[in-house]
Amino acid sequence: MSPPSIVRTNTADLYDAHVLKNYARAPLTLVRGRGAQVWDDAGNAYLDFTSGIAVSALGHCHPHWVAAVQRQAGELIHTSNLYRNPNQGELARRLVGYAGPGRVFFCNSGGEADEAMIKLSRLHGVAKSGAEGKCIKVIVAKNAFHGRMFGGMSATPQEKIQKGFHPLVPGFAVAELNNLQSFADQIDANTAAVLVESIQGEGGINPCTTEFLIGLRRLCDERNVLLLLDEVQCGIGRTGNFYAFEAAGIRPDAIAMAKGLGGGFPIGAIWISDRFSDLFQPGSHGTTFGGTPLACAAGLAVLDVIEREKLLEKVRAQAPAWLDALRQIAADHPDRLLAVRGRGYLVGLQLAGDPTPYVAAARERGLLVVAAGNNVIRVLPPLVATPDELAKSVEILRAVFAARS
Ligand SMILES: *Cc1c(COP(=O)(O)O)cnc(C)c1O
Repeated sequence: MSPPSIVRTNTADLYDAHVLKNYARAPLTLVRGRGAQVWDDAGNAYLDFTSGIAVSALGHCHPHWVAAVQRQAGELIHTSNLYRNPNQGELARRLVGYAGPGRVFFCNSGGEADEAMIKLSRLHGVAKSGAEGKCIKVIVAKNAFHGRMFGGMSATPQEKIQKGFHPLVPGFAVAELNNLQSFADQIDANTAAVLVESIQGEGGINPCTTEFLIGLRRLCDERNVLLLLDEVQCGIGRTGNFYAFEAAGIRPDAIAMAKGLGGGFPIGAIWISDRFSDLFQPGSHGTTFGGTPLACAAGLAVLDVIEREKLLEKVRAQAPAWLDALRQIAADHPDRLLAVRGRGYLVGLQLAGDPTPYVAAARERGLLVVAAGNNVIRVLPPLVATPDELAKSVEILRAVFAARS
C-alpha cells in the first residue's frame, strides 16, 4: 500500500484551536483505511483493533460496502420518515430475521437507541399500572454504560459520566451484574424494566453469564417487567453470534443496537418483540434522520457481507486460538496481565493498573487498541480480520508486555 496522498500537517493545531476539548485523544491523525489497517498523516500503518470502537465491523472501505453506499448516494439519500423507503423496510425485515417476531425503529446512534428503549419502559409502566409517572423504575447493572444522553446517562451508574449533569432522570436503580438475587431484590410493583448489556463494553468487558440471562428472563416474565438488552457494542456479530445474548438461548423484549450495524455509517435501531411493539403509536416517538435510504444501504451492506463471507462462523472458528494466545501472554506476565475476558472479537485484557501506557506502547509498535474501565484494554478486531492479523496483534501485545516487565 502506498502512503496517503493528502498530508495535513496542521490538523493537530486546528484541533487545539477549534475542537471542543471533551476527549483525551491519542496524538495521531488518521487519513486512510483498508481492511484492518489504517494510515496516519506521516504514512505509518497501524493494525486497527479498535474498529472505531466496535463500529467498523467489515474493516475499513470494504468494496461491497463502498459500492452500496456510493450507489445509494447517487440515487436517494434522505426522505425523512414522512414517507417509506425500500431500504428501511428491507433492513427491518433482515433484523427481525435475526431477532425474532417483532418490529424495528431506526435512529442514528447507540445513545438514541437506548433512549428509545427507556421510553418503551415508560410506556410499559403506564400500561402496567394504568397511571402516568408511577411505574417508572428501571434496574441497571453496576458499571453499565448506556450512552451520554439524559436517559442513558442516568442509567449509567458511573460518577465520571454523571458528574456535573445533575439532576438526572429519576427511576434508575442499580444491581450487581451476574447476581440474580440482587436484581430480584430491587424489583417491586413499580418496576417497568431491567436494562443490561449482554456483555458490558465500556465498563471493562464483563459478560453476563448464561445462567444470569436465563434467570433474568424468568424473573422478568414472572413480574411483568421488560427485559431490555443493550447490544450496541456486543451485537452485530462481534461475539460470533449475531446478538451476544443468543449464546444464552433467550430472547429479550427489546434490543438496542448501533455501532457495528452501519459498518461506519451512523445508524442505530431498536427491535421490540411483537408483544410490546404496539406500545409505540403514531406520534409517540420519532427522529428526522432515522432509517434514511443511505444509512439503511450501509446496514444492508454490512449484513450482506456478514452472511456472504460467513463472518459469524469465521469469528467463532478463529477467536478461540487467538484468545488462547492472549491468555498465554497473561500466563507469562501474571503480575501485569491479570485476566483475558470476553467472547469472539470483544476482548478485554484486565491489567494490574492504568491501561494508558500500554495503549500508547501498542500504538508505537503499530497496533491500535482502546482502554475500557480503569484497568482494561479492549481489543476489537474487525470481523474480517485474518489469522495473520490476529497473530500480529498477539506478537505486538507480547512485545509490549515483555518490554514493560
Ligand atoms: C457506545 C455505546 C452506547 C452509546 O452509543 P453512541 O453511538 O456513542 O451514542 C450505548 N450503549 C453501549 C453498550 C455502548 O457501547
